[in-house]
Amino acid sequence: MITIKKTKTGDALKPMVEKIAGVDLSVCLQCRKCSSGCPVAGLAKSRPSEIMRRLHLGAGNELLENDIVWMCVSCETCSARCPMGIDVAAVMDALRKLAIAQGASKQEGNVPLFNKAFLKTVQIFGRTYELAMITAYKLGTGKLMNDTEKFPTMLKKGKISLMPSLSGDRKTVRRIFKKVKQNKGAGQ
Ligand code: SF4
Ligand code: SF4
Repeated sequence: MITIKKTKTGDALKPMVEKIAGVDLSVCLQCRKCSSGCPVAGLAKSRPSEIMRRLHLGAGNELLENDIVWMCVSCETCSARCPMGIDVAAVMDALRKLAIAQGASKQEGNVPLFNKAFLKTVQIFGRTYELAMITAYKLGTGKLMNDTEKFPTMLKKGKISLMPSLSGDRKTVRRIFKKVKQNKGAGQ
């Protein structure tokens, strides 16, 4: 059974998520198909279907600190399985966006740091550049030398490259980042 403690932010969170994700949470049947296909549901404290229910019942900003919001790998299995066509993955994404925008106090582990390092390298190089991303992430965690013994093997097996790939469309990607920044500034 899901118990919801009504909070002041509860009424505001649901419409904001619905708007950002472009979904109608009221059509959720609680069939739990989204949860049964989710690769991280068994590891997280809450399952995607529970997040949907909590949102619908008026849960507040405490939901932004829920571990599944940060453990979600955006695989979109939940969205593909939903019989009501709810884009559950977009709901998770909306919760992450709101958590960052509202400075949720306890974002799960180092996931936000990883997100930031990933996006920064995509913004600069036009596509992901693992070496720069890992270095930025490890500098952020303060554990730069952790796991470095794996580096030579990864290099040898071609799993990581010393130089960034030049195949990305840097101009277009930068334009997208610029547009997103402008939209944020305009409060969209
Ligand atoms: S699969 Fe869709 S309808 Fe079923 S619980 Fe998940 S969100 Fe609700
Ligand atoms: S998108 Fe996220 S919530 Fe949905 S199935 Fe994948 S990991 Fe689970």
